[in-house]
Amino acid sequence: MTLKTYRSIFKWGDKREQKLDKGIINLIKSRFAFTNEDFEKKYLYGDDEVKLDYKCKLDDKIVDKFIQISGKENISKDDYSRASHAFGKYYTDILKLRKGEIITPPDLVIYPRNDEEIVEILIICNEEKIAITPFGGQSSVTRGMETQKGGISLNLTKHFDNIIQVNEINSTVKVQSGIFGPKLEDHLNSFKEGYTCGHFPQSFEYSTVGGWIAARGAGQASTGYGKIEDMVLAMKVITPGGVIETKDYPATAQAWDLNKIFIGSEGALGVITEATLKIRKYRPDNTSYGSFIFKDFESAVNAMRQIMQEGIGLPHLFRISDPEETDIAFKTSDFDNSLSDKFLKTIGYKEGNRCLMFVSIEGNKAYTKFVKSKIRKIARKNSSFYLGVKPVTNWLKQRYSSAYLRDPLMDIGIMTDTLETSVSWENLVPLWQSVRKYLRSRKKTVAMVHISHVYENGANLYFIFLSPMEKGNEMEDYVNYHKGIIDTIQANNGSLSHHHGIGRALSPWLRSEIGKESLELLQAIKKHLDPNGIMNPGCLGLY
Ligand SMILES: Cc1cc2nc3c(=O)[nH]c(=O)nc-3n(C[C@H](O)[C@H](O)[C@H](O)COP(=O)(O)OP(=O)(O)OC[C@H]3O[C@@H](n4cnc5c(N)ncnc54)[C@H](O)[C@@H]3O)c2cc1C
Repeated sequence: MTLKTYRSIFKWGDKREQKLDKGIINLIKSRFAFTNEDFEKKYLYGDDEVKLDYKCKLDDKIVDKFIQISGKENISKDDYSRASHAFGKYYTDILKLRKGEIITPPDLVIYPRNDEEIVEILIICNEEKIAITPFGGQSSVTRGMETQKGGISLNLTKHFDNIIQVNEINSTVKVQSGIFGPKLEDHLNSFKEGYTCGHFPQSFEYSTVGGWIAARGAGQASTGYGKIEDMVLAMKVITPGGVIETKDYPATAQAWDLNKIFIGSEGALGVITEATLKIRKYRPDNTSYGSFIFKDFESAVNAMRQIMQEGIGLPHLFRISDPEETDIAFKTSDFDNSLSDKFLKTIGYKEGNRCLMFVSIEGNKAYTKFVKSKIRKIARKNSSFYLGVKPVTNWLKQRYSSAYLRDPLMDIGIMTDTLETSVSWENLVPLWQSVRKYLRSRKKTVAMVHISHVYENGANLYFIFLSPMEKGNEMEDYVNYHKGIIDTIQANNGSLSHHHGIGRALSPWLRSEIGKESLELLQAIKKHLDPNGIMNPGCLGLY
């Protein structure tokens, strides 16, 4: 792979090329009737060198002003830099990059060095009505990073990636927003007795604190640690209308919660430059793990709900895979047809119905032991069979890298994407059934579903689909299929998003989801903070 190709921009994860393993190849052969030759052909590989047809539209005098503010070495105007800041990691972002279609790249990329520079940059952009897109790890999967109006991509990962303070007394960490997950977590884990932030999205390795907050994300251990909004105590946000700074009180009743205006604002209100987050003690040796198999999805969901509502403490990681995801997990591992598999089948855990559940519980040793024993009891009452620790610890080893497979799948012409929703318990199974029915209404589709963020009152559902692309019409085909999924989620009482956010991909549904008045309220807040609509225009459907 030469350095400055489209592929180098869209490729996710480890920069080395990933290979599909035997299990996945067999799955694709059996479900999509692919032949060996189909695995040899590379479709829309994206290995051409990047070339932009669209030059920087900014006047040289304006560019000079930015150079004076941030220094020549912190401004990029070349094709590759602009192309590599034009999109995030949404399916259509990647398709466009694979096709070399970059119609609205940013005009300039700026790597600001401090808050004062951001204030000055925003003043110029506000006066000149130049769009600004705050840029973190670029892992947005909602078209949130598409620079629809060109302008400035404000990349915070170069100079805003420091830990400002760990406060052991308050149990907090204050950080700059462009810090990536591993740098933050490694620092906390090795700080004195050891701490953790507890936020581990699947994109952890390549996403930033600012992006976590702006997109209102959730990590894989969110059932115990909460979503990012449960972790943020204070923030600093630079908006065109001024600087907003909140304080790290444990709780207040000072009107409504200002943090929550910016958590989920997706760069449409301002630039988050600092955040104070809660931290917890990091005691990995105390963690308890457990894996269970249930006879069907309904009994696994019942057990999960009872565990959440019983008052026995909370697991941190808590997941159920539906029957198709469970079968694929078994088929793509050595477990398929093993003695254990045969044993499970004879005692009633049948292929096509059975469901895996994984838990991990963190904290004090006595606590993790206690919670696990209670979980085992409730799981047993719901006719589960305990599978031990290994399935979940094996799963944890590939918790981030499984997502690297998207690129080799797209290389062989497979459309694959993930969607997620949040739903109350009473609507969960009907929603799961309806979306699965829709997903499977497409010929040759693999549809895997899991629950991975769980609450007393409901949970999320996370859908993964794979299906051969309609080659030559892949964009329209995807957009239509995706629309059908969102329509089905909405018709069955699911939220538009539980943790990916709205971006531009879901903004057409926002009005019907939250109502005209609520949308007008969001627009009014934007108008106040960003009167000229320069902050990530079009994101969340707001201008
Ligand atoms: C393979 C993969 C797996 C994923 N898994 C998860 C998951 O498990 N959980 C989850 O929650 N999400 C997940 N995501 C989605 C994505 O990683 C999250 O939305 C993440 O929080 C984005 O962080 P980022 O730093 O990459 O932000 P970016 O993609 O750079 O930005 C996202 C949005 O936030 C804005 N923004 C970024 N930084 C700032 C800032 N400092 N101030 C103001 N606005 C800002 C951007 O303008 C954009 O609108 C996944 C994505 C991928 C590609």
